[in-house]
Amino acid sequence: MTPQLLDTYGRVHNNLRISVADRCNLRSVYCMPEDVTFLDKSHLLSFEEMTRFVRVAAPLGIDKIRLTGGEPLMRKELHKLVSQLINIPGIRDIGLTTNGLLLERQAAELHAAGLDRLNVSLDTLDETRFRELSRRDGLPDVLAGLAEAKRVGFSRIKLNAVAIRGFIEHDAVPLARYCRDNGFELRFIEYMPIGAEAWEREKVFFAHELLELLDREVSPLSPAPGYDPSAPAMEFAYADGGGTVGIIASVSRPFCTKCNRLRLTADGKVRNCLFALDETDVKGLLRADPLDEPALAEAIRASVWAKWEGHEINTARFVKPLRTMHAIGG
Ligand code: SAM
Repeated sequence: MTPQLLDTYGRVHNNLRISVADRCNLRSVYCMPEDVTFLDKSHLLSFEEMTRFVRVAAPLGIDKIRLTGGEPLMRKELHKLVSQLINIPGIRDIGLTTNGLLLERQAAELHAAGLDRLNVSLDTLDETRFRELSRRDGLPDVLAGLAEAKRVGFSRIKLNAVAIRGFIEHDAVPLARYCRDNGFELRFIEYMPIGAEAWEREKVFFAHELLELLDREVSPLSPAPGYDPSAPAMEFAYADGGGTVGIIASVSRPFCTKCNRLRLTADGKVRNCLFALDETDVKGLLRADPLDEPALAEAIRASVWAKWEGHEINTARFVKPLRTMHAIGG
């Protein structure tokens, strides 16, 4: 039997996103409802259970992990999970996606634990719009977290901004300048129908519009060296040498045909697509003592094998999953 996690479209999966918490300290309008019931602690996978999962998934070809949530830094001592995962044979790359609110306190420990890649989600540098989008305060904390992450030595820090019409037109250029000044890589993600709010295509500020705006207001852009049109993020370089900017055009240019991702939710469900309508419950398997490794490996394999062709956002067939982004793991 092939050690690879293959689906029926021939896609090989090596990229696992683990949601370590469904809890969040923001209530971003595009992501989750204001009133939300979080999981009881007893339903959350422990670090040991997540590590068990990765020990079984790594020999199947998983070598890249991203910790996400909810807000992953709300999980106490996350650096301990990083240390556990990094020692698993085959795992070559661990990243974290965070809103940055609690980063200042944790950056040094995470870096020391061996975290490689850090993505901080930040849609605006304007406090009023920050509050409007996230329904909470906290911009100064995020900026302090970013500064601390840079200080402790994270070499590649990315900033993720969701491209929502009516907001990002005001924020794209200031964000681009801030990233250029600080040596951060800016990435835009087209607004997707995965939050609690009603989504309309008209609310997406599309990749080509972002490019036009930055090209005009910041510096001319051209495809970055090694540009791969099929990669999830299209990379562009500023003509004046001011770094690069990435765009994940999930709506206007879906990358489903190249998707190599699967997800483990905080409550132990395997999802083969962000927009999946079915999921595989492996919490029972992860909690069994002793662990039935072949059964867990088979459950992971079967979930990947059952993956559909793509998310169908652009068709009338699209059905929004019941879970919102915070409960899946972005
Ligand atoms: N709390 C962490 C954070 O803010 O980065 C991790 C979880 S968050 C769900 C992961 C990413 O998903 C963030 O960059 C967020 O902006 C993005 N996201 C959430 N809802 C989205 C949506 N409807 N469309 C596009 N991106 C979205």
